[in-house]
Amino acid sequence: MDSSNTDTTSITSFTINSPTNNNPTPMMMVTSPTGSSSSSAAASSSPTTLSRYENQKRRDWNTFGQYLRNHRPPLTLSRCSGAHVLEFLRYLDQFGKTKVHTQLCPFYGHPNPPAPCPCPLRQAWGSLDALIGRLRAAYEENGGKPETNPFGARAVRLYLRDVRDSQAKARGISYEKKKRKRPPPNQGQSSSAPLPPSS
Ligand SMILES: [Zn+2]
Repeated sequence: MDSSNTDTTSITSFTINSPTNNNPTPMMMVTSPTGSSSSSAAASSSPTTLSRYENQKRRDWNTFGQYLRNHRPPLTLSRCSGAHVLEFLRYLDQFGKTKVHTQLCPFYGHPNPPAPCPCPLRQAWGSLDALIGRLRAAYEENGGKPETNPFGARAVRLYLRDVRDSQAKARGISYEKKKRKRPPPNQGQSSSAPLPPSS
């Protein structure tokens, strides 16, 4: 059930309620340049050829803008601080799909627990880290000054580091691709599990 390989995949699933990331929902795409839009064509390149990263960044930026609009009390981008970014990241955790065991859980430190447990699902560190990187870039591309970039705030960096360390401990992984799989010991021919005929 718990797909633990979603670490570095995109985080789009919190924006839309569908679990499929590859659904190309063009939210702010310009579909036809012949529309009678205003003459402020800021697009220096065709928006239809944006890379996956650029599309993702745009979606993330829209999501964050939506979050600001729904924020109570109202919050504008110019008044957004690192603390608000942390609030946003914690808010995203409710859409997470990564099981993070508490220290009280018997599976604490197990990457592949053999049974379900009531520990919470969170956003994987890799997802958050990539998200912050995209939002940080988007902020400055949208006119924000680097020195006031809330996504580059020290508190955010520290938070991400903390999430990485605690998730690594909770899941017993070191965030390095583990290559080898230990095959089960193959001693003695057990007749209980016959191999299918290979012919
Ligand atoms: Zn657990």
